[in-house]
Amino acid sequence: MDCIFCKIVNKDINADILFENDFFIVFSDIKPSAEIHKLIVPKRHIDNLLSFNDAEVLEYWSSLVDTINVVSDLLKTKDFKIVVNNGNLQQVKHLHIHFLSGMNVNDKVN
Ligand code: AMP
Ligand code: ZN
Repeated sequence: MDCIFCKIVNKDINADILFENDFFIVFSDIKPSAEIHKLIVPKRHIDNLLSFNDAEVLEYWSSLVDTINVVSDLLKTKDFKIVVNNGNLQQVKHLHIHFLSGMNVNDKVN
């Protein structure tokens, strides 16, 4: 599948990676909408927020909250906004969670 975020996960193309764990990789958005704009991306290709099956949704949700905690610690801020575009509102059809903080945090994300 020709998916830009799968290529970042597989290190086939470069990204400014903040960290990764078993479930997620976190890197800078290439076209930031705010002072801090990271993307939290599941390592497995998942089309969108509605694509989880019942068996995996709880472990992904739990890992996502853990991951957001790590991002918050690394970036030393608890003042952030989480945005998920879905379906036709997604430019990239691989689920990603926008983590926004700092100046311009209230600007529109796409
Ligand atoms: P969305 O509209 O929610 O699908 O947002 C996709 C986001 O991915 C946009 O904010 C883009 O700037 C970002 N993006 C696209 N390609 C890359 C890339 N190669 N590295 C980092 N961010 C990217
Ligand atoms: Zn993908």
